[in-house]
Amino acid sequence: MKQKLIYLEENLCSFKPLSPNFKGGKGEYQKAEWLKNYLTQKKLGKITEYNTSDERAEKKIRPNFNLFYKGQTDQNLWIISHLDVVPANDTDKWNSDPFKLKIAGNKLYARGVFDNNGGLCASVLALESLKEKNKKPYFNVNLLFISDEECGNKYGMKYLLDNFTLFKKNDLIIVPDAGDQNGLRINIAEKSPLWLKFTITGKESHGSKPDKGINAAKAAAYFTVELDKLNKIFSSKDDLFSTGSTFEPTKKLANTENINAIPGIDVFFMDCRLLPSINSEEVLKEIDKMTKTIEEKTGVKIKREIAMHEPIAPATPKNAQIVKILTESIQKTKNKEPYLKGMGGGTFASLLRKKGLEVAVYCTTNDSLHCANEYCEMDKVIEDSKVFERVMSNNE
Ligand SMILES: [Zn+2]
Repeated sequence: MKQKLIYLEENLCSFKPLSPNFKGGKGEYQKAEWLKNYLTQKKLGKITEYNTSDERAEKKIRPNFNLFYKGQTDQNLWIISHLDVVPANDTDKWNSDPFKLKIAGNKLYARGVFDNNGGLCASVLALESLKEKNKKPYFNVNLLFISDEECGNKYGMKYLLDNFTLFKKNDLIIVPDAGDQNGLRINIAEKSPLWLKFTITGKESHGSKPDKGINAAKAAAYFTVELDKLNKIFSSKDDLFSTGSTFEPTKKLANTENINAIPGIDVFFMDCRLLPSINSEEVLKEIDKMTKTIEEKTGVKIKREIAMHEPIAPATPKNAQIVKILTESIQKTKNKEPYLKGMGGGTFASLLRKKGLEVAVYCTTNDSLHCANEYCEMDKVIEDSKVFERVMSNNE
């Protein structure tokens, strides 16, 4: 199975499937074509395309496609992985070409080798293994491969949900895109992301004459400290999540070219992740109070904008069928007890949960995703594929 995994990864990692949102990104077209070809040659089922158009992408296509393999029953199982990757970024920090697979013992290195090729390969290898054993899966197996996960899902999951009725209420859905390093964590909920942009407007002046201006950078610093109080105000905990709500200043725009100028404008962003019990309106109310305090103290004007907000999605119930089947499958594969958690990072599972669908986010992960020298451990991907094979067979 290792050789098969290497063959898949070697090819899948070679295409630079970057969203056109990123400089030089041509989209996922070539990677999807290669994968469709592979699945067709292996006779792994019927492929249906749900492509969407994007003027900026190669062939103007953002590919989405499903591989359907008939099971013994009419109930559908979906394993949904994404084709796109994030840029390699600092190529200096890579010890090898990010778009050429490097093999070192049990580890494979390349951009996308783990996120999300790990989950993708595990799902393909699971179905291949069943087919080789001449075993018909218990459920109809749907391996869905989609675009645009890293840049907002517009051409991927959002497009599919808005334009097709692919999913039914009793479908079983796995998103193999997060978990823990032991493969025991099943994620059944996500925090609600709230991203904010603040524009602080003061008055520009010469660096030697601060009294003639109003320093927007200094006001932004005071404001950042004030905003940190959100952590105390909204400090409630939730057993499902290992951390509470988080409120972090993140991106900052350049304010002035010169060291010797008092900046008249300062723009920064904040990434808030809210627990289900926290109302985003309440958070915004508190922020607006803080805004007033800083405006009065410093004389600046502060404009608040919402850069992105996904309202909270309901958690997948702890006793959902997919959770039960996956739990049993992990127990049988690893001889260990899995546990249920909520996560701070976002996946498209929350879009599905909002439609009333039950989704388990599960795979064996590591801490290299989105970093230089991204890697996957082959034995872990193969074990995930065994877990998925058992799920496909309903643990029979
Ligand atoms: Zn991912």
